Amino acid sequence: MRQSHVLRDLEADWMDFAIDTVLGSNETELLLPDHLNQYFLFLCQSIDDQSPELFFPLLEKWTEIYFDESPEYILDVLLRLFECTRLVLINNLSELEAIGLIQAIVPIQMKIMVYAGHYDKNRTIINYKAQMEKMKSELETLDKSKSDFISVAAHELKTPLTLIDGYLSMFEDTYASSNPDPVYMRYLIEGMGTGASRLKQIVEDMIDVSLIDNDLLSLNFQPVWINRLLGIVELEFKEHILERHQSLIICDFEGAEEMIFADPERILQAFRNLLSNAIKFTPNQGEIIIQGRKLPGFIEITFTDHGIGIAQDEQNRIFDKFHRRGNPLLHSSGKIKYKGGGPGLGLPITKGIIEAHGGALWVESDGYDEVKLPGSVFHVLIPARIEPPDETMAKLFKG
Ligand code: ADP
Repeated sequence: MRQSHVLRDLEADWMDFAIDTVLGSNETELLLPDHLNQYFLFLCQSIDDQSPELFFPLLEKWTEIYFDESPEYILDVLLRLFECTRLVLINNLSELEAIGLIQAIVPIQMKIMVYAGHYDKNRTIINYKAQMEKMKSELETLDKSKSDFISVAAHELKTPLTLIDGYLSMFEDTYASSNPDPVYMRYLIEGMGTGASRLKQIVEDMIDVSLIDNDLLSLNFQPVWINRLLGIVELEFKEHILERHQSLIICDFEGAEEMIFADPERILQAFRNLLSNAIKFTPNQGEIIIQGRKLPGFIEITFTDHGIGIAQDEQNRIFDKFHRRGNPLLHSSGKIKYKGGGPGLGLPITKGIIEAHGGALWVESDGYDEVKLPGSVFHVLIPARIEPPDETMAKLFKG
């Protein structure tokens, strides 16, 4: 009788034993009985012609299905199957028959192990390569963000510096003249002041971004009324809205008059950023609407503009640092100038502030179109905290 037939007769015993040895193991993923049976049938076939190649696609399939995370386990499973085969032979055959079959099987098993070892190694190398590629692209992104930062920061800082420099030299000339005009000198000083406050604003934004990036933004929770904060920004931007011939409508809504705990300065900063963007990206005569609603545990405020809108694929990216549409170096610093650019820090800071409160910020827009003006809606979700998170503060406010 051919050795393969002898082995074939032991299929039922081998399967029982293999299921116990391999499926019962906690260390390996479960192998389906069908797959174990396939292994057994290949073993029978390969004994006569000593061809282990049959196993190779099976091993690859197993690795993909079961051992992708820990490829070294396949060697462990193979060793268990070898041992299982040896024991089934010893338990069911005469000593002579068992030794004969074991001698025929061992070379095949050796080749299977060698193949599995190589395959594992290759897969490990491929995995390492993929990891290296991922790290490389992360580093490249980081590097790009660093160089974006340098070019944007240099450009943004240079603009107000040039302004200050220009006013300063005009001031010097005027001062040196025989009859300096005090009104003109006042105008030049104001110009320098504008440049200086723009510089201060950019540096403060950079500090904020780094605080947010490092989870160091600390909030000063105090009683806050959303309608009062909206009233403040309305007043602050009144001139700008007039200048751009726009209209700003702030609606009354449920929750706006309720006292909640939040950091008023930071929430104001977030509202300022959203309103100044709405003004910037809406043409003259456009309308900006701020409304809101009360949700369970939250107050939602929406800033709706009728401006140029935001393309679908930009809608997440605008919350990344230094992300602005177009060439960063072509942008000029401006708070309300139509389509005027800034350093691209406003939205990341706004998002950081809202998220530090435990809220959320997102945008909806039907796309970017400077002719059809689809507009954008920025949603701000702020937790309606009825007491400050800090225990000491809570006691203070409870009196
Ligand atoms: P910046 O500080 O330069 O104003 P932001 O982070 O506030 O940057 O905004 C990033 C980009 O998101 C802007 O350059 C603009 O392309 C886009 N954006 C923000 N708000 C709006 C809006 N209301 N409508 C259209 N685009 C907007």
